[in-house]
Amino acid sequence: FHGAHEPDKLVKTHCCYCGMQCGIQLKVKDNKIAGFEPWMEFPFNEGRLCPKGIQRYMQNNHPDRLMDPLQRVEGKGFEPVSWEHAMSTTVSEIKRIQNTYGNDAFAMLSGVSLTNEKSYMIGKFARVALKTANLDYNGRLCMVSAGGGNKKAFGLDRTSNSWADLKHAEVILVAGANISETFPTLTHYIWQARDNGAKLIVVDPRVIPLARTADLHLAVRPGGDSALFGAMLKILVDNDWLDHDFIKNHTSGFQETIEAVKDYDLEWAEETTGIPKEQIMEAATLWGKAKTSFLLHARGIEHHSKGVDNVLSCINLVLATGRIGKPYCGYGTITGQGNGQGGREHGHKCDQLPGNRDITNPEHRKYIAGVWGIDEKDMPGKGLTAYEQIEAIHRGDIKGMISICFNPLVSLPNNNFVREALEKLEFYICIDTFLSETARHADIIMAGSLHEEEEGTVTTAEGRVVKINEAITPPGNTRRDGQILMELAARLGTGDKFSYNTSEDIFNELRVASKGGTADYYGITYKKVVDNMGVFWPCPSEDHPGTPRLWEDRKFKTPDGKAHFNPVTYKPAAERTDKEFPVVLTTGRVVSQYLSGTSTRRIGKLVDQYPEPLLEIHPKLAYQYDIKDRDLIKVKTRRGEASFPAQLVETIREDTVFIPYHWGGKQSANQLTIGTLDPVSKIPEFKVCACQLIPTGEK
Ligand code: SF4
Repeated sequence: FHGAHEPDKLVKTHCCYCGMQCGIQLKVKDNKIAGFEPWMEFPFNEGRLCPKGIQRYMQNNHPDRLMDPLQRVEGKGFEPVSWEHAMSTTVSEIKRIQNTYGNDAFAMLSGVSLTNEKSYMIGKFARVALKTANLDYNGRLCMVSAGGGNKKAFGLDRTSNSWADLKHAEVILVAGANISETFPTLTHYIWQARDNGAKLIVVDPRVIPLARTADLHLAVRPGGDSALFGAMLKILVDNDWLDHDFIKNHTSGFQETIEAVKDYDLEWAEETTGIPKEQIMEAATLWGKAKTSFLLHARGIEHHSKGVDNVLSCINLVLATGRIGKPYCGYGTITGQGNGQGGREHGHKCDQLPGNRDITNPEHRKYIAGVWGIDEKDMPGKGLTAYEQIEAIHRGDIKGMISICFNPLVSLPNNNFVREALEKLEFYICIDTFLSETARHADIIMAGSLHEEEEGTVTTAEGRVVKINEAITPPGNTRRDGQILMELAARLGTGDKFSYNTSEDIFNELRVASKGGTADYYGITYKKVVDNMGVFWPCPSEDHPGTPRLWEDRKFKTPDGKAHFNPVTYKPAAERTDKEFPVVLTTGRVVSQYLSGTSTRRIGKLVDQYPEPLLEIHPKLAYQYDIKDRDLIKVKTRRGEASFPAQLVETIREDTVFIPYHWGGKQSANQLTIGTLDPVSKIPEFKVCACQLIPTGEK
């Protein structure tokens, strides 16, 4: 089904629903998205799309689309208001709160499904227009553990290769990445490698679809990842499967790192990870003896209170064997959100300025203050991360908030606590396209734009900057997000600092702001992106071709120019099972839904594919509780309870249950999850907590 109408035009752009950013052509008829055609020439996906990409155009004409700015009226719900009223009310409330409680009492949360231009503008808006330190983004629930590990090890936060290098790797290790459901078109590259004879190792508590074609599936106990990778490192050392030349000349920290795992024998590793020791040995042997290899990971190892440790323990395996910066050798963190890569580079993290600069570094602050035309001393400092902002609202330290493209009431852990916090805000403004669970708590909702309604760029999970083309103008009384932010900034007294005529104007300022940073876009222009169907950063000058494969020159971006090993000592998850809460709960995604489901839960064919969240449980565990398929089971943790129909599957560990997190309210998996954060990345521990299972006797 490609949409029934003869189009007025076909617009080449990209799918908005994951970091693959597949090329797609949208059919436009009468300023409506009427369907799609494959874009065969786009080099990554060559026309292939997954169920979300095929259905995405159905969000644009949906009857639930917010078409006017809205104001909450006590006892009546939301009523449409004029843009003038929405803008003036918002600005006077921001000023009242900041004059009464200080600038940092007004916070901002944003999302990384937004374009690079919007991400950049949001970073500038928070610091220059709102003058608040408290800006953070929903990448805090997604990529920050990978980013923290990458920066520690390499001094730069990007996947090291284009996916083209996967096809000829001898061994591919996929850790905590449900590729076939969450980045489906990437599966093709792994299958091509399999056709070329590659061995595939999958680490996951569930037999995810990719694991069914793997040579080795390691069903790790949730939270056991760094013990597994540490034990594998010990085996590499014991068997001298090491690249001594690379370690000696291009790395630091090797001795301390192997010292940290010297006692990791196979018995301990089996006991800690739940993986038979023969399988751990086999995985290390496959990895150790290979000449080329690729390691991929995603949220499965990153959504932990030890997420950065897990990432570093993976990188240690890559560095020990020197398989990076060479053809068919690499390492990649796969971004889940549409602009998960670009969205984490341009300054809308609480600790970051554009170019992936450090907001606490005096030279970085000075440079960006110069680009923005503000006094360096007026640049706010490091603010609170997303979940810390919620805690601050709960305490009464933050009184007002603006959010865009973020639905914390579904996506943050410990939902009941988040709801209590939102109810305490004195003023909350939400820029959104649908009435999300969180938007229902807003005082003012500004009807913003979808991906198809604004021009810009995004950066794919492999670091390729691609062009998003406006297919239609925003419908009805909606406005482009960029236009909303520019008007708010002007009304907050920023003069001409946000006077952009086009998205290319914003991108050109972003290029200058990124110049010399680790995420250097200076040499990337719109024309170059279009002519080449994407350009890989870093790209420091206009005559530079971009960098698909990092580290071929062995010049890492750390202060000493070397890749850094980091010692990792296994630590258990924050919450362990006990008599009262005897079962491990882990969460994740399904193929037909995207993040908090604000748009995909409204697309009928995607809903038909997976209508409600199910509790995956192994038949042996189900037998202990007399649970039958589709029985309604109450799942209880120390934070809340929610009920889900059981789905008996043999593809999960016997001590673990799984619930997808895309739903809100009574169906929310995140009513159950724990708000414990990684000390470095501040990512919550979505992947492990302890629960009780209580059959309700209902179907
Ligand atoms: Fe869209 Fe990702 Fe599916 Fe490609 S793989 S069609 S980018 S959701």
